[in-house]
Amino acid sequence: MTNRQAAIKIIKRLCDNGFEALLAGGCVRDMLLGRPAKDFDVATDATPKDVIRLFKRTLKIGAHFGVVVVLMEDQRVEVATFRSDFDYTDGRRPSRVEFVTAKEDASRRDFTINGMFYDPGKKEVTDYVNGQADLKKKIIRTIGDPYERFGEDYLRMLRAVRFATQLQFAIAPASWKAVCGNAKNITKVSGERISIEIENILINPNRSSGAVMLVKSGLAESIFPGFVSEQAKFAIKALGELRKKVDFALALACLFAGCTTKFALEKCVVLMLSRSQNRHIKFLLTNRGKLLDEQISVAELKRLLAKPYFWDLYELQRAIQRAKGGGKENITALIKLRRRIQALGDAEFKPKPLLNGHDLIRLGAVSGPRLGQLSEEMYIAQLEGQLQTKKQAEQWVQKWLEKHKRIV
Ligand code: ATP
Ligand code: MG
Repeated sequence: MTNRQAAIKIIKRLCDNGFEALLAGGCVRDMLLGRPAKDFDVATDATPKDVIRLFKRTLKIGAHFGVVVVLMEDQRVEVATFRSDFDYTDGRRPSRVEFVTAKEDASRRDFTINGMFYDPGKKEVTDYVNGQADLKKKIIRTIGDPYERFGEDYLRMLRAVRFATQLQFAIAPASWKAVCGNAKNITKVSGERISIEIENILINPNRSSGAVMLVKSGLAESIFPGFVSEQAKFAIKALGELRKKVDFALALACLFAGCTTKFALEKCVVLMLSRSQNRHIKFLLTNRGKLLDEQISVAELKRLLAKPYFWDLYELQRAIQRAKGGGKENITALIKLRRRIQALGDAEFKPKPLLNGHDLIRLGAVSGPRLGQLSEEMYIAQLEGQLQTKKQAEQWVQKWLEKHKRIV
């Protein structure tokens, strides 16, 4: 069952029981754009109590704010009661919610393109906020007064930049002015929430335009004090040279490509990255110059090659060199380096994984994307020297499986 099918089934059951229930928010936007939706959210006039009564398996974590997660087969769907948020005392979270009509629920949402509903039975869009017109015009516009709306929840400023980046939309002039005017307040939002948005901006192929918005609005400087002018200009160029698909650590290293490693690592603290992300960035920034050193010894080169993030390091340096442009680039050094690497062969610095797919399944892993993730994480632990024997690897995998057990 797909997430969409689960959501539609939930809607049907709610409607059969006399409630109003609709798909809401991001999934409606994505459907209208013809792009795959991440998850399908349901909005309804049923209260959390009704929802819990009607479905066998639910998670009640957000019930206080009107949100219940309904579990259906292997899917989880957020079912939210139409609500209005009140008392944004700190620009972060509403302290109280009130259950209201669909129309009022639409008006508490952030942007017009995110404020629409869809009735899968009638195949009808309900649009109280002119979202369809803005979708056509490719515009991110707050619902209601932008100063007020950003003032209620400063994170919305980063969300605006994130959606503009992901969808390649423009931010409406009044909304943009309000982002610029409020940018310094972004620090009132928690590091975790900031980090999620920054990650989504920087891992997107359109990351360079995202960075332009972050810099021009003043958000970048508020989040990373001291990150200005020349460094920022270089970052924008370098980000534009990265390959399409990169992970957060490489994109962040590229954002700070024009800065000292010390400065970059200090600035990253606010993002509350994981230990392995921090290690990844530190590796990339501290070693970035080494690839240009044509005198680098075979031993040193092999040592670098054995690192799990070597090819990210190469990609970072490639982007940096291309960003320099205008004859200042040093692409030849990188071409020479590639030749040296080819000449080395890859047997030594690419050891065989301690456990293969069959071994992992025997230990209890289930085939699918998570098997790939497990096998990659194990291989990184192996390359990093944490795992040296098969036995150690097995113990490590068992712990991993325990930690990643699904809560159902
Ligand atoms: P994505 O595809 O990235 O999940 P989304 O639009 O679904 O994008 P979510 O964060 O999943 O975004 O939120 C779902 C919906 O809830 C949004 O479309 C929007 O209507 C509403 N929403 C989410 N966060 C906020 C917020 N900070 N302020 C107001 N409305 C919000
Ligand atoms: Mg969503």
